[in-house]
This record gives sequence, structure tokens and C-alpha cells, in this order.
Amino acid sequence: MTGAIVLAAGQGKRMHSAVQKQFLLLKGKPLLCYSLEAFQKSGIERIILVTGKEEIEYCRKEITELYGYTKVDAIIAGGKERYHSVYEGLKAAEGCTEVLIHDGARPLVTEKIIRDALNGARQYGACAVGMPVKDTIKLSDEEGFVASTPDRTHLWQIQTPQAFRYSWIRRAYDKLFAREEYQQGVTDDAMVLETMTAHRVRLIPGSYENIKVTTPEDMAVASALLDAALEGEKICHAEK
Ligand code: C5P
Repeated sequence: MTGAIVLAAGQGKRMHSAVQKQFLLLKGKPLLCYSLEAFQKSGIERIILVTGKEEIEYCRKEITELYGYTKVDAIIAGGKERYHSVYEGLKAAEGCTEVLIHDGARPLVTEKIIRDALNGARQYGACAVGMPVKDTIKLSDEEGFVASTPDRTHLWQIQTPQAFRYSWIRRAYDKLFAREEYQQGVTDDAMVLETMTAHRVRLIPGSYENIKVTTPEDMAVASALLDAALEGEKICHAEK
């Protein structure tokens, strides 16, 4: 059994919007629908949707029922930080052999990326989707001066989904929650596995389009990228 945990809790304060970013309309549909649709069409067998306690009913009626996402078999409440939401999702995913964890705020995830991530989990036990960085990245010191310039050839920007053998990631998260100090500075799931266990995480290429919608200008970028993706699909169909 393969599962996907799609995260749609949290306030998304950087969006400065009354509506949480995951529910903002993108080309007429809530942003969250795009990633749910990709997982619905993929080979993943069950989807666990994690949202705010107050949004569970809305998600059930206005998202999963309305758009027919039949693979969503649990809609559960998340927690204060992203890693709290993930842990709730993992507990609900008990029984899965592999699990993909995805930010609902990344509407441009594709079936191919999902397939590659699942294969990565099967082959390596753990993988994170990402892309090599295009810009030079610098580390700063406390005073805002450059401390060092890491070699760009080994730097990746990390996205979701991140995919794992269930037993590995569950054990890592159980350990993370054993002591509060372990939770300092946790920003993604691969990091939980890296710090809590000795397992290695494989990096899998995603796409530069697989952006996370965080600030208002990201909505315009996501909309343009969706247009371009739809246009590409039309061309592909016309050529067949
Ligand atoms: O806030 P940020 O953009 O890093 O959130 C990444 C993803 O994690 C989003 O899809 C958001 O809905 C989710 N999240 C969550 N629970 C939280 C915080 C964020 O499910 N407490």
C-alpha cells in the first residue's frame, strides 16, 4: 500500500491574505486541488489530507467531494508547525509500505515527479525531490558579511514530495517527538531522517516549475506556469 500525505494546514502568514493560501483560487480552483489531482491520477493508492481543525468540513465538502478525489480516505487536523502536521499524517498512514509527503502549496507537482519519488523510495528507502541551484549561494556571518561561498555543483534546492519507506520515516518522527530539543530548526522531512537515523536520503530531480506558493507574487507565477503546462499538453495531444 502506497500513501501520500498532502499538507494543507498552517496559516501561510507570508501570503497576507484573509483566506489561507492553500485555498486561494488559482485559475478558478482552490490551489490545493492541483496537487490532489496529481496524486489522484498517480499510482498512489491512498491520500491523507492534513488541514486545520476548522477546515476539515470545508475540505470534505468543497474539495474532495466536489472534485471527486476518491483516493482521499482521511482528512485530519494538523498541528502548530509543519512537522506536527506531518506526524499526524504519518500516524494516519499506518499500514502503508511507502509514503510520500507533499506540500499542498506546490500546485505544479506532476504525475512523473510522483512516480519518480515513489520509485526512489522503493529503490533507496528515502528520497527528496529537488533541483540543482542556479544562483550562487553564500553563507552569511552574524553581521551580514559573506562567511563563505559553498561549491555550487553540490547545492540543491529541495522541494516536495519527499518519499520514504514508511517504517524509516515513522521511526525518525517518533524519535523527533521523544525530545523537544530535537525539533529545533526542522524544515523538511528528509532532515528528520538525516538527523534522527543513520539512513541516507537520495536526491531525485523534480522540476524548476514545482514551486511553493508562499508570497502573493507566487500566485501569478504559478498561474503562468499552469498556462504553459496546459499549452504543452495541447501541443503533445495535437502531435499524437
Ligand atoms: O508555511 P510553508 O509554506 O513552509 O508550508 C509548507 C506546507 O506545509 C504548506 O502546504 C502548508 O499548508 C503545510 N503546513 C502544515 N502545517 C503547518 C504549517 C504548514 O500542514 N503547521
